[in-house]
Amino acid sequence: MKYSELCDYYERLEDTTKNLKMRDIVAELLEEAPSEDLELITLASMGRVFPASVDKDIGIAGKLMQKIIAKSYGAAEEEVVEKFKQTGDLGKTAEYFCENNRQRSLMTKELTVKKVFENLRKLPETTGTGSEERKERLVRELLTSAEPVEARYVVRTTLQEMRIGVGEGTVRDAIAVAFGVPKEKVENAFFKLTDYGEVAKIARKKGEEGLDDVEIEVGRPLRVMLAEISESLQDALEEYENPAVEVKLDGFRGQIHKDGDDITLYSRRLEDKTDQFPEVVEWAKECLKPEECIVDCEIVAVDEEGKPLAFQNLSKRIQRKYDIQRMKEEIPVQVNCFDLFYVDGESFMESSLKDRWEKLNEIVVERKGKFKLVEHLETNDMEEANSFYQKALGQKQEGVMVKNLDAKYQPGKRVGYWKKVKETMEPLDLVVVEGIWGEGKRSQWISSLMLAVRDPDTGDFLKTGKMATGMTEEQLQEITDKMEELIISEDGRTVKVRPKIVVEVGYEEIQKSPKYDTGYALRFPRLLRFRYDKSPEEVDIVERLKSLYRKQNN
Ligand code: AMP
Repeated sequence: MKYSELCDYYERLEDTTKNLKMRDIVAELLEEAPSEDLELITLASMGRVFPASVDKDIGIAGKLMQKIIAKSYGAAEEEVVEKFKQTGDLGKTAEYFCENNRQRSLMTKELTVKKVFENLRKLPETTGTGSEERKERLVRELLTSAEPVEARYVVRTTLQEMRIGVGEGTVRDAIAVAFGVPKEKVENAFFKLTDYGEVAKIARKKGEEGLDDVEIEVGRPLRVMLAEISESLQDALEEYENPAVEVKLDGFRGQIHKDGDDITLYSRRLEDKTDQFPEVVEWAKECLKPEECIVDCEIVAVDEEGKPLAFQNLSKRIQRKYDIQRMKEEIPVQVNCFDLFYVDGESFMESSLKDRWEKLNEIVVERKGKFKLVEHLETNDMEEANSFYQKALGQKQEGVMVKNLDAKYQPGKRVGYWKKVKETMEPLDLVVVEGIWGEGKRSQWISSLMLAVRDPDTGDFLKTGKMATGMTEEQLQEITDKMEELIISEDGRTVKVRPKIVVEVGYEEIQKSPKYDTGYALRFPRLLRFRYDKSPEEVDIVERLKSLYRKQNN
């Protein structure tokens, strides 16, 4: 498909905010897409360059892009910056300079979707000395061949800021409409493949039956199940006829795939973390009886006595790419299994939690303090559940999970089969969208962070307060380094960054405030921890702020 044809669809999508209309436009696009491009076009409709399971960073931030636009169209960088200030959008900025480029060659090649993605997909691999220039060349090649509208979308895709509002939900529904298949089946296939591009191909070629036939593949990460927040233990317990209460550990979500002696460990965001945890690999070989299986677990850092420690300790290990052996000794871990997807050719995703738990007990050989099943109590007696909960809090755990024993494994979204119960005013997960360079002693750091929640309807991030406390010098350095890579624009001491970094924030109170996009501000926000394991799509939504506000004022 010609890239210009795809851009026509982008323009139509940009012109509407109605979900159904967006779904129909994407469905039309998928129907039109030639088979050889369908996979790419499905991803492109969401503005993605890679499927969700591929954790690659394109690595081009606003500043470099300004330079690329200037060079591509023979403009001065200051002019580009000036135009960007007016439009607030580097896509539109590129479009403007492309349109007004006097040196524009008439001999340019017509862009295809394939060519655009071929170049963009080379960007993450372009590292080492001279990589900036090579990256630049890859994008410039596209921009110099582009028509003005194409330039807009090439830039936005490269920056991963499409502004067309198409998310996974829209694409799921569009595949269902385009190829006449039930959307539940589209989604189920996606949970196993984690790539809507592949799902679309199957739906077109083999229809409903093809989707039914999608099997779990050991070694390929799966989408995991998530929990909803419950206001109290009582509420959670009353929700299900047959509840189980489990300790909610404060660690990192792991998905262990065993294929004989071949072990892979994935994080909740489907990143491969096998190399970081060699001891988990050894234990999994020993403690998981089946030849092939996939289990869901929480990995926590522990002290010398095997008692779980707070997440901060562990986060160092998750990030680490070198000195693995030393880290292994410094920060020992423990694996707590709580669920299972698959055992020797049989999927357990449709089985009830009761059956899954029973099977998990069968297949795990516990190794004291290292590899075990999570503490699990099946009861609907409030007193019994409460003493379990109090014991968990006493052991400095986060709280408990209350789970529906009759429910199947439903990945991806908060479907209400699991409830988490925690103490106190819930912290918020927010994304950093701006920062201000500090003054005086703090002038080498970005020391004040503008935080935002997500609007689930538009996918936009809405500002809701500034945080300048709770950060150690080490953390200030860390956040400054990370933010510098994400800068889109600078205005005096204020920098605007791509919404990537998720932080868990504590606060005293939520107040109404016209100063911020949400209409609410946080009183005394402070950093609890960085949440690199969470994606910006997972931060709290506006509704949560509202409901916490109501709760607090009750
Ligand atoms: P949250 O990150 O607050 O949405 O809580 C959900 C997370 O709690 C899961 O993704 C797991 O990493 C973690 N967790 C800890 N203990 C358990 C448990 N017993 N069952 C399920 N998830 C757990």
